[in-house]
Amino acid sequence: MKREGKRLKAEGKRTWTNTPLNLFIASCSPSSFIPHPPSLSRARSGQAVVFLLLAFTALVFVLLFNVDLHRIIQRKDQAQNAGDAAALAAARWQGATLNLVGELNLMHVLALATQAPAAVDAITNMQARLCFTGPMTALFAAQIAAKNNHIYVDPDMTSLLTEHAATVRTEYNTRFNGEMYFAEPWVGAWSEYADMLELIASDGIAAGPDNTQFYLDPSTGHPLMEKAFYEAVESSNWCWFYLHARGLLESYDSYHDWPPLPDPDTTDYADSEIFGIGLHPYTSPIKQLFSASDLEKLIQEADLGPVSAATLTASNAMDSVETWYVYNTKDWTAWDLIKPDGEGSFPITGPVRAEYDYAGADAVVRVYASVDRMTPGLDGGSRSDKVIWTSAAKPFGYLDTDNKKERPDSAADFVLPAFRNVRLIPIDSASGSDNNSSDIDWVRHIKSHLRPYLDVGPKPSGCRYCRALATWEVRAFRKVGIDWLELYCDNCNVPSGGGGQRGGGSRRGH
Ligand SMILES: [Zn+2]
Repeated sequence: MKREGKRLKAEGKRTWTNTPLNLFIASCSPSSFIPHPPSLSRARSGQAVVFLLLAFTALVFVLLFNVDLHRIIQRKDQAQNAGDAAALAAARWQGATLNLVGELNLMHVLALATQAPAAVDAITNMQARLCFTGPMTALFAAQIAAKNNHIYVDPDMTSLLTEHAATVRTEYNTRFNGEMYFAEPWVGAWSEYADMLELIASDGIAAGPDNTQFYLDPSTGHPLMEKAFYEAVESSNWCWFYLHARGLLESYDSYHDWPPLPDPDTTDYADSEIFGIGLHPYTSPIKQLFSASDLEKLIQEADLGPVSAATLTASNAMDSVETWYVYNTKDWTAWDLIKPDGEGSFPITGPVRAEYDYAGADAVVRVYASVDRMTPGLDGGSRSDKVIWTSAAKPFGYLDTDNKKERPDSAADFVLPAFRNVRLIPIDSASGSDNNSSDIDWVRHIKSHLRPYLDVGPKPSGCRYCRALATWEVRAFRKVGIDWLELYCDNCNVPSGGGGQRGGGSRRGH
């Protein structure tokens, strides 16, 4: 008995060592069950509360995330509608302006036939102004269209246009040896143009013109003027170099190697920088462009009143050396950007009809919309997403010559009323669509950072494009690209059409 009791005592000692684990096991094992109903139910209900809280938090997150997703989609829809409406409004005014300039060309002929020299001067002056006031009205109409579609004023784009108005007022009005450095299309043009820009900007810019060609900017065609170059550097997209700038990684040594920036290619300031319509004045007697009977027909078709070929010949109309408004052949080229075999290899289903196959006037606009996010913790604290949408539209029309439809500029480049409608066009097929002239960081980089970089190399900067240049300048960075391409360049394919890179925008911020 004694021995047994000892053994039991020993076992008991072994069983009930006071380690926390054993205490836990003991409390859970049925043999050591000591009924304490109130504390058990507290533990269980505590676990349930924790579980419910977790489930509830997850549910709240899912709900908030859904709300955010819905808001972003809704805002993107709004941005798209606003961008499309703004581009269409601008293109409509471009078309209307072209028609007006065309009608004035014909009225000019009539004024000559009726020997009204004061009217002739007024008409030519009005045409020169229309090349600016038309596009400015287009810009204004685009703002209204965007604002009517719930897009608010963007402070950056507004300040960009205000700054540009100041540049026009000061720099464009500069005289050099008594001559205007930027020849004015009419006396006082730059001050009036600056006034118009300021007036529009004072209401706030909601739809930024994105294919603007500023007179002072270098013309495009330099790698440093291509946004894609910077994006390729930022994302180490070596295939971009293989496909678009083959050999650059190998041949480049330092910033001294870049070719100089091209000069601005404008010597002709007759066309607006913003939403330009690609016209310029041309001085000659009208008989070099049309016969008297052609003119008689054109004037009748435009419903501008009866005039006979005989009257036109008898008056000085055919011989007088006059200023006419004509399509600038530099702008009104074939519409190569949309052709399947063209530069952009755009995926369209068939050839563009001959009467619509022209580049020239088109409007590209950019809108920004912000979405305030409700889900916490997914960002760096900004709680706001920026939605960017860019749209392009173009006025279309044709001349009806003997029941055959022809391009609007087919009559000796002479502007005639020909535009009938507007259409949205794919952004990548719009002219000047790489300018990104409403992307304020990009505009600042082109205007202020490129020339200093070419002179002294990269400097520390808050500008993302300058930071990309600093990365690019590092030899080891380029070496990584060279090595990668040696192994994998076969994987670099020209993107085929129809994917996400086309159709809705792509390289323009979508
Ligand atoms: Zn920069």
